[in-house]
Amino acid sequence: WAKADGKSRWTLFDPERNAHRMTRQALSSGLRPAIEHGEFVLEYQPLVGMEDGRLRGVEALVRWNHPQFGMLTPNRFIGLAEEDGSIVQLGRWVLATACRQARRWQLEHPDAPPLFVSVNVAVRQVWDSDLVTDVAEILAETGLAPHLLQLELTESAVMGSAGRPLQALQALSDMGVHIAIDDFGTGYSNLAYLSRLPVSVLKLDGSFVRGFQYDTSEKHDGTDARPNPADEVVVEAMIQLAHRLGLTVTAECVETSAQASRLRGIGCDTGQGWLYSRPVAPDRISELLRTPARRSRSEPI
Ligand code: C2E
Ligand code: MG
Ligand code: MG
Ligand code: MG
Repeated sequence: WAKADGKSRWTLFDPERNAHRMTRQALSSGLRPAIEHGEFVLEYQPLVGMEDGRLRGVEALVRWNHPQFGMLTPNRFIGLAEEDGSIVQLGRWVLATACRQARRWQLEHPDAPPLFVSVNVAVRQVWDSDLVTDVAEILAETGLAPHLLQLELTESAVMGSAGRPLQALQALSDMGVHIAIDDFGTGYSNLAYLSRLPVSVLKLDGSFVRGFQYDTSEKHDGTDARPNPADEVVVEAMIQLAHRLGLTVTAECVETSAQASRLRGIGCDTGQGWLYSRPVAPDRISELLRTPARRSRSEPI
């Protein structure tokens, strides 16, 4: 194609796109060795009770401390790991590391109520690996109680899940492990169907919470920054229905106290977001556990 003229040649060999493709390739081929070289790290983001502001649990979020590209967030590499299947190995490492850490906090702070740890699980971990055996082994090795482990799956991973995935979810739930639906509301939201699955927690996607932005004490520059009452009505109805179906509800991306008070008002159980804390290193969580006031008072931690 490059024969046509000089211009199209430049388009075809766009150096920026080429660099992007080379970075993707470098990241992709580096995934498996990086697991062995210990280049991945976990950060933990607090999950807080909406009523009392108390630290209840943490979500484990993986980062890649890349020797060449620096600290990478998951959007740079989780997709690649899903494509080439290395997510199975990475996911197993995340599970083991998070469970070991949760157990360590429990042993180091026997006076504090034990934290649960919530771990993201990719579809391929349910389909292509023996997730149930892995979880059972990791719980046995680390000594973490099953009810202190929560697995986050997306709607698309569980919707229409007959056969193997459903069996896996059922077996995990029978073990006492909690199953949460992550980013709830972004897919084929069907609460009636979800309630028939062994799911116990809904994590409301951040896009719902964003509609709660506006209040008088926190001025925004845009005059169009009005609350959308419809959003609140929808979210409130979703929370009520979820509760009647025996599910608890966690809100993602809680950034302002106005959002938190609205969510509290409509019955949301747990919150997660920058208002409370960014994802942090495990030592920061230890500090919170050492400070009883921080783990029991209804103020941002
Ligand atoms: P997620 O599971 O929905 O995780 C929440 C994301 O929202 C995290 O991004 C978190 O840092 C970010 N976040 C938390 N609070 C706020 C807030 O108040 N405002 C805003 N704007 N964002 C907030 P992160 O760490 O970049 O992770 C992105 C996604 O990568 C996660 O979304 C999850 O789907 C995936 N992921 C992370 N760790 C793992 C893992 O170990 N395994 C798998 N399979 N996926 C993972
Ligand atoms: Mg998640
Ligand atoms: Mg989420
Ligand atoms: Mg999300």
